[in-house]
Amino acid sequence: MLTYADIVLPLAQPAYTFAVPEGMTVAAGDAVAVQFGRQKIYAGIVWRVHDRRPSAGRVKPILRKLYDAPLLPQPQMRLWEWMADYYLCTVGEVMRAALPSLMKPSGDTEEAFSEEEFRPRMECYVSLAAELHDEERFHEACERLSRRAPKQYEALLEVATVGDDTRIATGEVARRLLRADYGVLNALCRKGLLVARDHERTVEHGRSAFRLPELTAHQQAALESLRGQFARGVHTALLQGITGSGKTEIYIHLIAEVLERGGDVLLLVPEIALTAQLIERMERIFGSRVTAYHSKLTGRRRSETYLRLNRSAGGEFIVGARSALFLPLKRLELVIVDEEHDTSYKQTDPAPRYQARDCAVMMARITGGHTLLGSATPSLETWLNARSGKYGYAQLTERYGAARPPVIYLSDTLRAARRGERTAHFNKLLLDKIDETLRRGDQVMLFQNRRGFSPYVECTECGWTARCPNCNVTLTYHKNGHKLVCHYCGYTTDVPAKCPACRVADVVPMGFGTEKVEEEIARLFPEARVARLDRDSVTSERAFSVIVADVEARRTDILVGTQMITKGFDFAGVSLVGILNADNLTNGPDFRAAERAFQLMMQVAGRAGRRNDGGEVVIQTSDPTNPLIRQVVAGDYEAMARGQLAERQAFFYPPYARLTALTLRHRDPALLREGAMALADGLRVRFGRRVLGPMAPPVDRIRGEYLVGLLLKIESGASSARARELLRSELKAFAAHPTFKSITVVVDVDPQ
Ligand code: ADP
Ligand code: ZN
Ligand code: ZN
Repeated sequence: MLTYADIVLPLAQPAYTFAVPEGMTVAAGDAVAVQFGRQKIYAGIVWRVHDRRPSAGRVKPILRKLYDAPLLPQPQMRLWEWMADYYLCTVGEVMRAALPSLMKPSGDTEEAFSEEEFRPRMECYVSLAAELHDEERFHEACERLSRRAPKQYEALLEVATVGDDTRIATGEVARRLLRADYGVLNALCRKGLLVARDHERTVEHGRSAFRLPELTAHQQAALESLRGQFARGVHTALLQGITGSGKTEIYIHLIAEVLERGGDVLLLVPEIALTAQLIERMERIFGSRVTAYHSKLTGRRRSETYLRLNRSAGGEFIVGARSALFLPLKRLELVIVDEEHDTSYKQTDPAPRYQARDCAVMMARITGGHTLLGSATPSLETWLNARSGKYGYAQLTERYGAARPPVIYLSDTLRAARRGERTAHFNKLLLDKIDETLRRGDQVMLFQNRRGFSPYVECTECGWTARCPNCNVTLTYHKNGHKLVCHYCGYTTDVPAKCPACRVADVVPMGFGTEKVEEEIARLFPEARVARLDRDSVTSERAFSVIVADVEARRTDILVGTQMITKGFDFAGVSLVGILNADNLTNGPDFRAAERAFQLMMQVAGRAGRRNDGGEVVIQTSDPTNPLIRQVVAGDYEAMARGQLAERQAFFYPPYARLTALTLRHRDPALLREGAMALADGLRVRFGRRVLGPMAPPVDRIRGEYLVGLLLKIESGASSARARELLRSELKAFAAHPTFKSITVVVDVDPQ
C-alpha cells in the first residue's frame, strides 16, 4: 500500500499531497525536498502522513529527506496552525516567517537546490568505549597502556576525566578540545578503547551557579506575587513598573528558577539591535546559557542555533526579536515579553501579519508554560486584561535606589513665540536647561519624531510641494545630499532649482526633522559635541554601535534622535531630555495615537537621570492644556488608560472590538473601486454594519498601484472563529471572481 504525505511549502499555497517512495519513512514535522510547479525544488515540512490518494492529477514523489530528526516539533506545528487560522494566511506563509532562510532552500535543479541547502558544521567527538565504563576494566586498560604506550595512556585518562575527575566520564568530548594528538586518539579507537563519532557541533552548557541580584522589599513582593499567581494557574501576567524600577531584576529571578529545573526560557525584546545592553546584562549573570537570536545574525548562525535547539534537552535561554518565537524549544516554561506595548512586535509585511506578543501567549499555552508581559506603559489591551482579571498583575511603583523619576516641565511654544523667547525650534526654557546641563558636564537627549532635515519642500509663491510620482505622499527633504526622498518606495530626486509649477520662486524646506534639529543645536551650542541617531544616520549595525559608544563614553554631549533613542538605552550621564514637539505626536489620525504618544513620551522621559537623581524633561507644546500631555507630566498611566478606554468603548475600537483591515490593490482605479464595492456588499450580507468602507487609506497610491481599504469591526465577546470562517469564505469567493480576481487583497488581523 502506498503512503502519502501532505507537505507544507514556504508559499502562499495550501499543503500539497506527495507520494512517499518505497523504502522511505517520513513522519509529521520532517523536512523533505520535493519538486513543485514545473521545475522548482523546495524544502517542505511533512504535515500529515496518510493513505488516501488524491483524486486529481499525478502525484509526485518526495525526492529525499533533509535531516535525520524532525525539523518541526509538535508544539511548533500547533503554533503554525493557530497562526494560519487566526491571521487568515496559509501555513506555508507562516513557514516563510518561521524558519531561517537557509533551512528552506529552493532551486531550479537538484544541484541548485543542494547548493542552497544548509549543511551543519560537523565535528568529531570521542568517548570511552562502553566496556570501559566498568571501573575494573578501565584500570586494566590503563595499566596495559601505561607500560607500552604512555601517550595513549595519557590520552585515555584525559578523555576519562573530562568534566569531573572523581568518576569515569561517560560523556562525549569534542576532539578539538583535547590535548592529545589525533594520531594517538585514532590508535585508541582502533584498539576499541575509544569511540569516535562525527556529528554537529554542540555548545556545552557548564553547570553554572547563577549570581542573582538581591531584590529590594518591593521587588521581592512583586516577584512572590507573580510566583503565587503562576502557581495558582494564571497563564499570563502583566508586570507594570516605571522605567528603572527593576522589572529586569525580577525577570532574572524567574528565568533562573526555570533554567535550574531544566526548562527553557524565551525573552522577547523589541528590535534586538537596540538591546545589546540587555544581552550583555543577561550574559553577566547567565554566561554561555544566553543565546541571542535575531535577524542581524548570519543565516548560518541562525540555522545552527535552530538545529542545536532542536536537539537540546532543555535549560535554554533565548534572548531574541519576534522571530525567536519560532525556535524549537522543547521545554518552554516561561516566555517574557519585555516592553510588551512596543509596536515592533507586530509584523506588518509580508504575511503572516502577526503580533508576536499575542503569539507568545499562545505558544506558552500550547507548551503549558507561563507568559510574563513587562512594561512601564502597557498596551491598553493588556492592561484591560490584567484589570479584568483575565491576566495576573504585579506592579513596581518606585525607581530603584536613589534614582527618582524625572521632573517634567511643560513649555508653551506659542507663548514663548509671543514673548520673543523662541530661537529656531527651541523655547527659552529648553535652551536654558541645555545650557545648565552642559555646564554641569552632563548629557542631553533631544527627541524629534521625524527624520530628515524637514518633511517637505514648498514653493513660497504658489504653494507647490514635491510629491512622489508612484505614491500619494509628499517627498521628504534630506539636507544631506540635497535630495527629496519617498519614505514609502525609496524614490529619490534632486530638489528643483525653481518651482516646476509657477517657475517663479524658489522652493524652500518646511517644518523640521532630526537633521534640522541637529544643525540648529550645533549652531546654538558651538562648543557641544552633537550626534544624531535615526534611520538615516544608522546605516549599519557598526554605525549604530559607534554612536552609542560615543554617548556612553561621553564623547557626545547632545544626542538628537527619533524614537530610536527611546529604546533600551541606559546612559548614566543623560540628565536632560527635550521633546521638541509633542503636538505632532498627540494629533495623529490613528485611534491609537494618544496611547502611543503617552507611551513614547514616558519612554523618552525615562531616559533622563537613570542613575543619578534630578533628571529633567522639557516638553514643548502649543497645546499645554491637552489632557494627554497633562497625564504625561503627572506620569499618570491610569488616568490615561481610563480616559482612552472610555473613548475606545464609545467609538467601538479595540480592546472592545476586534479589527480586521482589508487593503485592496490594483493598477486600474475603476476596477479597484468596483471590486471594493462588491466585496463590501458581500461582507455586509454576513456582517451587516460591522463593515466599514470602502475608504481611501492615508496613502492611497503606492508604487503605481491604487489602494482601497475596508474595515471589519467585530465585538470582542463574539465568536471570532465564526467571524474568521465567514470572512475566509467571502475572500475565497472574491479571489475566484472572473472580473476581480486580479485584485490583490491584503488581510491584516488586529492591525496596529
Ligand atoms: P527596568 O527593567 O524596570 O527598567 P532595571 O531592572 O533595568 O529596571 O533596573 C534599573 C537599574 O537599577 C539597573 O541599573 C539595575 O541594575 C538597578 N537595580 C534595580 N534593582 C536592583 C537591585 N535589587 N539590586 C541592584 N541593582 C538594582
Ligand atoms: Zn514613492
Ligand atoms: Zn511655485
